[in-house]
This record gives sequence, C-alpha cells and structure tokens, in this order.
Amino acid sequence: MKLEKSVLDEFMKKFNQMPHRCPVCGCEKFGVSDFETQILSLDRQGSDIAISKEISHLPTITTHCLHCGHIDQFAISVFLNPVVK
Ligand SMILES: [Zn+2]
Repeated sequence: MKLEKSVLDEFMKKFNQMPHRCPVCGCEKFGVSDFETQILSLDRQGSDIAISKEISHLPTITTHCLHCGHIDQFAISVFLNPVVK
C-alpha cells in the first residue's frame, strides 16, 4: 500500500540526515520506495510453513542501493517514535 505522504516526508527528512553507504558495493546513492512493505512472521511446523489465520507483521519502508540493488528496511514504528533518542 502507498505510504501516507506525512510518513514518507518524515522518513525522507531523517533518511537524508543519516550517513548511508551500501554495505555490499559502497555506493552512497539510494532509492526509496513510496509504498509500505511488510516483514511477515509465519507459523511453521518443523521445517514447513503452516498456514494459519494469524500472520504477524512489521510495517517498513524499503530503500535500495541504486548500483547493486541491495535492500534495507526501516521499521516505521521506530523511526516515527524512536525508542532511543
Ligand atoms: Zn550497492
């Protein structure tokens, strides 16, 4: 789903103040997706994924290196309200 403009604006303000360098290729140029992504937590039984009604998730904003495509994700709940100041 598309990010709310206020959330993306707040992220961009903070992201642009952070030093960032791709850990894979060293590039300093990143793209930022304007849609919310999710990290999903699925149940499993042994080594198999078990389909259940409840799927936990962590909403994130995804950035990607413009040279090699390496992807980073930032937890929306944390950057909007940092636990550590
Ligand atoms: Zn890279």
